[in-house]
Amino acid sequence: MTSRVYVNHDIVVRFAPSPNGLLHLGHAYAALYAYDFARERGGKFLLRIEDIDVGRCKTEYADAILDDLRWLGIDWDGQVVFQSKRLDSYAQAAEQLKQEGLLYPCFCTRSSMRTIRQNNKLEEGPDGPVYPGICRGLNKDIAKERASREPHCWRLDIKKSLGLTGKLTWHDGLRGEQVADPAALGDVVIIPKDNPVSYHLAVTLDDARDGITHVVRGEDLFSSTHIHRLLQALLLLPTPEYVHHSVLVDETGAKLSKSRDSDSLAQLRADGEDGLQAAGRLRKNIFPVGIGLSKA
Ligand code: GLU
Repeated sequence: MTSRVYVNHDIVVRFAPSPNGLLHLGHAYAALYAYDFARERGGKFLLRIEDIDVGRCKTEYADAILDDLRWLGIDWDGQVVFQSKRLDSYAQAAEQLKQEGLLYPCFCTRSSMRTIRQNNKLEEGPDGPVYPGICRGLNKDIAKERASREPHCWRLDIKKSLGLTGKLTWHDGLRGEQVADPAALGDVVIIPKDNPVSYHLAVTLDDARDGITHVVRGEDLFSSTHIHRLLQALLLLPTPEYVHHSVLVDETGAKLSKSRDSDSLAQLRADGEDGLQAAGRLRKNIFPVGIGLSKA
């Protein structure tokens, strides 16, 4: 266990899991990394449940997260934050971006995107194929009329946004100064078709609202930070320091996934494993056979 040597509430760190499945050792590693980062510096550690994906998030998963963290010996400051209770603030920010003409409705469906992908070579971004901007140039009146009757999401016009903000940078504690390159991800979705808000907008707003000074999270989210930095500039939010640590991967190098319940922390708890000992092993980078750290 790390002991708190001094109190420095200028440092505020969070763990922000999504309750769309049971947590596994990869989440435990990430939670401990963020927790130790905060506590070793005498900082605050907050817990935010990112439950905006209405179709996939479940209360039972959120309950299991709290039990998992307690089992690992992790405590948090203040009340647990639930993003589902903050939908108004997300809608307000999205409206602001719309008013500024930075969002456009996109009517592309999964199947139309599949066809486009088959027929055109799409640019490959860090998170997969980049949306080629099909709906970006739609006539405003036509788009408005279609939006009144067709399902659609809202995308961020990255080029236009960057035209307003100019060059943006951010700092990663492990990788140094970064120039934000949101264009590499393309016009990301800000308001999904079937959810109130995207991860990108909600997390950016909440990190500011919760006074997070250090966003400590897995390197799988490194590319998202380019978008978050842009949103901060557009919404006049502060930019925290970032630390993107290695993540746990399997034999094939793939990030551990939530799909196998058998590998969950809940199962380890049910099997009577000692959580503090499990945390101790993770802190020393001792992992079960077949699991290792990604190479940053
Ligand atoms: N909710 C995100 C996830 O579970 C993580 C958010 C973050 O750390 O920025 O993958």
